[in-house]
Amino acid sequence: MELNKGRELLWHFLEGEKCFFCNKGFLPTDIEPKFGNARAPIFDMDITIHHKNGNHDDNRKANRRVAHQSCHKSYHAKLVFKKWRAEVAA
Ligand SMILES: [Zn+2]
Ligand SMILES: [Zn+2]
Repeated sequence: MELNKGRELLWHFLEGEKCFFCNKGFLPTDIEPKFGNARAPIFDMDITIHHKNGNHDDNRKANRRVAHQSCHKSYHAKLVFKKWRAEVAA
């Protein structure tokens, strides 16, 4: 797929979407994109898919949530730390 077209589609689908963790949007709020000519502006695609139930083999739509990569990373880092602490305390 052509890159510009892909970006335009992203703008379309991400409008109104919120990060699962911080509840903020993904698109810059200070730019007004023009659709239909594959000229959607470049933005920082800090976005990933989080598996809500923690099972990465469960790829049903209901289990997938969009999230910022940064929020996602710190969430999983915290989980790992928690697990480690629990093991150390045991
Ligand atoms: Zn976020
Ligand atoms: Zn995740």
